[in-house]
Amino acid sequence: MLNKKVQGAINEQIKNELYSGYLYLSMSAYFEANNLPGFARWMRLQAEEEQEHALKFFDFVNDRGGRVMLQTIDQPPVEFESPRAIFEQTLEHEQKVTHLIHQLYELALEENDYPSQVMLQWFIDEQVEEEKNATEIVETLRMVGDKGQALVMLDRQLGRRGAD
Ligand code: MG
Repeated sequence: MLNKKVQGAINEQIKNELYSGYLYLSMSAYFEANNLPGFARWMRLQAEEEQEHALKFFDFVNDRGGRVMLQTIDQPPVEFESPRAIFEQTLEHEQKVTHLIHQLYELALEENDYPSQVMLQWFIDEQVEEEKNATEIVETLRMVGDKGQALVMLDRQLGRRGAD
């Protein structure tokens, strides 16, 4: 049986993951509107991954006889400054999510909730990956700039996400 404190924190995290998905989908819409289909595709797949993260927590709560309680999801920003600003924002957001996952893990430790600890280890690894991916793109954009030909090349590269 899932304890109420952990259940409450996981329900909160379901909302956070769905918000991440909402944020990335909004970024995808921005890229679509700015003729960057590769960036748009990358962000759309990122949004789908966040949806999967939310469902992983959703299933875990149900599997343990808990109760999922969905919460209000904030509206994400609609306008963004530039592709580089978007990826800087993405990295910052993922760092925040990492912190939230670590806090959840600390709670699972305090509550001696071993199944939650094991489940959260997957998310701890996942966050290392998320931060790494965002950092790489931020660094590329800082290096080559986010205009003209360099941007078109990067758009092509990111558009191949999920194709190989
Ligand atoms: Mg996530």
